[in-house]
Amino acid sequence: MEFEEKRKYLVESLINRKIVNDQNVIQAMLKVPRHKFVPQGAASSAYLDSPLSIGLGQTISAPHMNAMMCEYLELKEGDKVLEIGTGSGYHAALCAEIVAPEDCKNPGHVYTIERHKKLADKAQKSLEDTNYGDRVTVIHGDGTLGYSKEAPYDKILVTAASPKKVPPPYKKQLKEGGILCIPAGSREWGQNLYIIRREGDEFKSENITGVRFVSLIGKYGWQE
Ligand code: SAM
Repeated sequence: MEFEEKRKYLVESLINRKIVNDQNVIQAMLKVPRHKFVPQGAASSAYLDSPLSIGLGQTISAPHMNAMMCEYLELKEGDKVLEIGTGSGYHAALCAEIVAPEDCKNPGHVYTIERHKKLADKAQKSLEDTNYGDRVTVIHGDGTLGYSKEAPYDKILVTAASPKKVPPPYKKQLKEGGILCIPAGSREWGQNLYIIRREGDEFKSENITGVRFVSLIGKYGWQE
């Protein structure tokens, strides 16, 4: 089976399982070539609905998790997005496909931070190779600090497990009316996925489901 056919099959199964419903997310999942973001040798597994190793003890999340997080963030054209945990760069490309589709009138942008330099460099290359290089900015650093240079953000996506639901820098860097999606809880026993909306100075959280992510390590995260 060709990659495009496998991708279509995967997206159909996400629709049938009622994981995705938003047309923007569906079109982005159909378009972004996930097999170009996984390590060489794992391309044949790129369209299975499971996480894959990307080296340095880190993972690219399962496609259903990428789709769910995009959908709960209510991403739309023009959004400025901050992602913490670039990993492979795939989730950043998915967000970019939604907030800045080619030739749109009002393109948004994705800023994504990765603490491992080797992963940040590899993701940058994959994003350039797949034509997302100008819609995504990859930053090497501690994402628990956020990225104040481009704040405030419409949406903040955290793809590693945090000890806190709203690390203080994200409070400051999320726009009023903005949405934060973050897995928070125990490092050992798993976390819950939270959707947190900023309403004025209040942060209203909704617990979506139980999840298990690799740890968010940094000043406002866990210690190494
Ligand atoms: N979104 C990624 C993708 O599409 O491949 C998967 C992310 S992986 C589950 C979590 C990533 O968060 C890892 O690459 C890890 O190195 C990174 N990470 C952990 N703590 C971080 C921090 N404080 N700042 C930036 N990245 C961090």
